[in-house]
Amino acid sequence: MEKIRTLRGFRDILGEELGKFRDIEEAFRKYSTRLGFRQIELPILEKTELFVRTIGDATDIVEKEMFTFIDAGGDSLSMRPEATAGMVRSYLQEGLYATERLTKVCTIGPMFRHERPQKGRYREFHQIDVEVFGVKEPLIDAELIFMIRMFLDELDISRYHIEVNSVGCKTCRESFRGILLEFFATRKSELCEDCLRRLEKNPLRIFDCKNQQCIRVTADSPLLFNSLCDECRDHFDLFQKYVTGFGIKIEVNKRLVRGLDYYTKTVFEITSDDLGAQKAFMAGGRYDDLVEEMGGPATAGIGFAVGVERLAMLMPQKTEEPVRECFFACIGDRAHDYLILLLKACSSEGIPLKYSYEAKSLKAQMRYADNLKCDLVLILGDDEIEKNIVTLRDMTGKNQEELPLNIDHIISVLKNRLSP
Ligand code: ATP
Ligand code: MG
Repeated sequence: MEKIRTLRGFRDILGEELGKFRDIEEAFRKYSTRLGFRQIELPILEKTELFVRTIGDATDIVEKEMFTFIDAGGDSLSMRPEATAGMVRSYLQEGLYATERLTKVCTIGPMFRHERPQKGRYREFHQIDVEVFGVKEPLIDAELIFMIRMFLDELDISRYHIEVNSVGCKTCRESFRGILLEFFATRKSELCEDCLRRLEKNPLRIFDCKNQQCIRVTADSPLLFNSLCDECRDHFDLFQKYVTGFGIKIEVNKRLVRGLDYYTKTVFEITSDDLGAQKAFMAGGRYDDLVEEMGGPATAGIGFAVGVERLAMLMPQKTEEPVRECFFACIGDRAHDYLILLLKACSSEGIPLKYSYEAKSLKAQMRYADNLKCDLVLILGDDEIEKNIVTLRDMTGKNQEELPLNIDHIISVLKNRLSP
């Protein structure tokens, strides 16, 4: 019969990669807690409308990447493609804006996008998501960069670039839109189909196109960065000053825009040349209009998302200290009864004990212990039980000794011998 496999772009995560995921989560918790963030668990499934209204209907995510379906009740639902939308919904639904001056929240979990799977790009992937509501001052923008820096230091990742830009506010974007439309009007024939559509809906998004020809066109284009209003320029200058104050190097990339419509002012991406084509492994920015647009009070917002799979790809291989282990070889029914006693004692003392579930010959059990690379073997057969002893064999030195068959004594010897 044909074996059932995972869906395309969906994966099992295990072994070394899972270990890295755990380390990432631990490092993240350490610094997010230090900086006053608390965790929220959000639903994976939400109304499609939530993502359409936040992310924007002219974005790749909403246009073609969401897992959307109509449920039995006739509602259009979508698997979350990112977490900011749900965070904003939660912020409003839970009424946090009414009880807190500022809100620092984070979440970790799977996200879903119907993209063409390739290295570092999956249909189910994981993000750490960080959001701050209620701070318009650029000090928080810099603080988030500082948190990212500490987090990456903790994971021993040092080869990356922090690319930053400002995409302005409604005012500067509105006046720049005219300039941009004028420029692209003469270059329409060079743009891809997607960008022709972007030209109608949000011409800034053309800067995010991965098509080589479109990249060449935008190379000659006027830049929003050069048309920022005074407020946005001051905000960006202060942000840069604060980041420098934290002792962190950033690179201004005036062509950086993000694939979601809600961003205003500061945007950033953390990229690494070690990742190949999908080089961004964290990204984020400010969204000062979003909460109001979603029906809440005017509230500034800023956040970022970490692509956990891509981050794990950057983590250095760990050299695990070999752990010393003990095998219990027991022959005969009476010895086998002792296994349960020993296993109970070892487990409560934190000593991992290996053994065979099947009743095998001593020779077979010794071969098994050797295969498992156990350092010590306790041997209990009828002879030993008669003499009220247990044999302890050291597999490295091949020497052995007899211990009294006393559980407390055995445990204390094992503890002693197995300590690194
Ligand atoms: P990309 O340019 O790679 O498509 P994006 O702009 O769509 O990224 P964001 O929406 O900003 O990505 O998500 C933040 C991070 O989540 C990315 O930097 C990346 O590390 C990760 N990410 C996004 N999509 C995927 C995916 N399909 N598979 C794995 N990781 C992803
Ligand atoms: Mg994408």
